[in-house]
Amino acid sequence: MEKNKTAILVVDMLNDFVTGALKCDRGLAIVPKTAELLQGARKAGVPVIFCNDAHLKGVDHELELWGDHAIAGTKGAEVIPELKLCEKDYVVPKRRYSGFFHTDLDLLLRELGVDTVILTGLHAHMCVRHTAADAYCLGYRVAVATDATDSFTEEDYVYGIKYLKEVYGAALYTVDELLRAFGV
Ligand code: ZN
Repeated sequence: MEKNKTAILVVDMLNDFVTGALKCDRGLAIVPKTAELLQGARKAGVPVIFCNDAHLKGVDHELELWGDHAIAGTKGAEVIPELKLCEKDYVVPKRRYSGFFHTDLDLLLRELGVDTVILTGLHAHMCVRHTAADAYCLGYRVAVATDATDSFTEEDYVYGIKYLKEVYGAALYTVDELLRAFGV
């Protein structure tokens, strides 16, 4: 992995996904490792890009299935405080599962010279998976930080990671392995 061609994509680590409307204990459990990864990435000059649900209330198709969550402009749609969103991070709002669907994420990655994306966040079998699908189809190499990614259940998580590996050739790394690769 060349760290100057790599970016971290943090998917939906938002108040509503961790402690709010769609709260999940397994999401809370990955917060310390995720924070460690982001701190190391920032230190190593690896871009941190938050792919954040920012739904339009009463409009977005997905809300019929999941109920209101991460409504744009609300506290629930903000990055959880523990991840300390900072000025040099990037935020890409999204209205569907994938961080690429009708967003400028591909344009951002191209301009940053990125060819490999490291996925983290929630949920391994849903938004992380859809983001990985589009990354793969657009020609990016896909990797996953396995201990900074999770799902509602162990079963969903194991299935999600297996699918990423088998279908998108995702490389699986722990946060510690990534930090060593970044040289921090
Ligand atoms: Zn959503």
